[in-house]
Amino acid sequence: MSTEKTDVVIVGVGAAGGILAAELSKAGMKVVGLERGPRLKTEDFMAHDELRFFARQDLRPNIKRSPVTWRPNVNARAHPLQELDYGNEAGGGTVHYGSLSWRMHEDDFRVRTKTIERYGASAIPADSSLVDWPLSYAELEPFYDKAEYELGVSGKAGNLEGKKIEGGNIFEAPRKREYPLPPLIVDESGLLYEAGAKKLGLHPFPSPRAIISQPYHDRPGCTYCGFCQAFGCHVAAKSSILVTKLPEADATGNFKLITGAMCYRVNSDDSGKVTGVSYYGPDRSDNTIEADLVIVSPFIYDNTRLMLLSRTAKFPNGLANSSGHLGKHIMAHMMAGVFVTFDDRYVNNFMGPSAQKHTVDDYNADNFDHSGLGFIRGAQLSIGTPNLEGGPISATTIAPPPGTPRWGAAYRDFIARAYARHGAMVAQTENLPYADQTIDLDPDVRDAWGLPAPRVTYDWRRPNERARVDFVQKKLVEIGQAMGGVEVWPAPVSPAGAPGAHHEGGTRMGSDPKDSVVNKYGQTWDHHNLFLVGSSTYPTMGAGFNPTLTIEALAYMTADAIVNRYRKNPGQLL
Ligand code: SF4
Repeated sequence: MSTEKTDVVIVGVGAAGGILAAELSKAGMKVVGLERGPRLKTEDFMAHDELRFFARQDLRPNIKRSPVTWRPNVNARAHPLQELDYGNEAGGGTVHYGSLSWRMHEDDFRVRTKTIERYGASAIPADSSLVDWPLSYAELEPFYDKAEYELGVSGKAGNLEGKKIEGGNIFEAPRKREYPLPPLIVDESGLLYEAGAKKLGLHPFPSPRAIISQPYHDRPGCTYCGFCQAFGCHVAAKSSILVTKLPEADATGNFKLITGAMCYRVNSDDSGKVTGVSYYGPDRSDNTIEADLVIVSPFIYDNTRLMLLSRTAKFPNGLANSSGHLGKHIMAHMMAGVFVTFDDRYVNNFMGPSAQKHTVDDYNADNFDHSGLGFIRGAQLSIGTPNLEGGPISATTIAPPPGTPRWGAAYRDFIARAYARHGAMVAQTENLPYADQTIDLDPDVRDAWGLPAPRVTYDWRRPNERARVDFVQKKLVEIGQAMGGVEVWPAPVSPAGAPGAHHEGGTRMGSDPKDSVVNKYGQTWDHHNLFLVGSSTYPTMGAGFNPTLTIEALAYMTADAIVNRYRKNPGQLL
């Protein structure tokens, strides 16, 4: 057993924690980072081993050691999820993600107000806990800019200070300057998608990604190897926290990273202050770090779980839970897929960076009129790879058209015909928050450290969500037909009600301690020296956009507030 003392301890050094580690240690604060997984190197990703990274998912939490359970409602028995998409190593999910790097739209920060203004209060489902964010796009814009330039994001501006630019996303919020790097090369799937979407009067553009299209900050540009999402990058062209911010933190001499460290409690005293954390080391030793400031920034399940595990006689419902909102308002993007095949075009969509390669934003957020549609909000519509992951095995996970079985000679013939000649499109839908979508502690399932597993209670099959998925899937079918596909068909969407991707919420931010867990800086209302930073704080999903760039921008904003204000008056409410 060991005890050490530091200024700041950070639990989880991924998209949020890695940025905070670098920024605070550069400002002279002594920082200790705790990471459950290992710290890997770029050389570790040289082997493009699909069995290891795609099938076995070695860069993600092991579902037996770190189970997360799910049930559709409180009356159902929870079962372990069979795939966990987030990261389990230093750098977190940014090591293996598809690197999509979106700024949220202006109206994404004011969804409740804007919806009522345009459609009336009755457009919001009565049981939804839809709210505005406690900050505006304008407040976050400088930190989006900082994240794009410090990390390295490739893309094409579509709205430069209000001037709309064709070829970029004309629906994006105004930005002060271009992306630091030009877009990645558009592949055959993107060219076909672009032509089809334009025929329908839509506005396609290359998706912005934290993958450098050219040499940048001493790293080489992307080689278009194809083993991208689910893999680490073998040349460090993916702008992960592992190759960007952690080396910056190392260089200060103020940062120490402890890997294989399972944090099981945030310690607190009766005054309301937190005093540090306790963790199990790789050798099962039981250790304590005393710190003036505690930042908790793992994936959302573990943010809520750690608060619940840290309950005391003084805080019997868990830390940061005086509002009773801890663990509530969970959201997920539902992935509504549509496939298209060609007789005469080789698409070879297993090549190049995977995930969502080319996008239309016309049916996202409130970028279109929802009057009479029976739902609010929308989806990012894009083309990429089946499963959105990289490599040739992943490319065979295409769901066959109705009438074709998933086995035997007919399936073999389908794969032989369609493998190199299909496009895989996906609508990434923005689901609404509901208070009864929750994370709590599973009473029956424990992890490898003997701690209760996080239990997710979630069912996406609500009227608003179903209507949205039906609508955007039909729009993708129209695009597939406009692309000239010989067959176009939708894939089934989680028929049992399981959550999709990018789970968010659980420690929502707000401007009132009575109905939120943290303020806009991630500072908990109940313990002013405890911060929760990451997508667990999102009050709404931020459109159908992937969450990572907003996590990173929020982390920069929190770091700025801590360095320039909190540090001068520790314990103050920011
Ligand atoms: S496609 Fe590019 S960014 Fe992705 S792993 Fe390959 S080289 Fe790296």
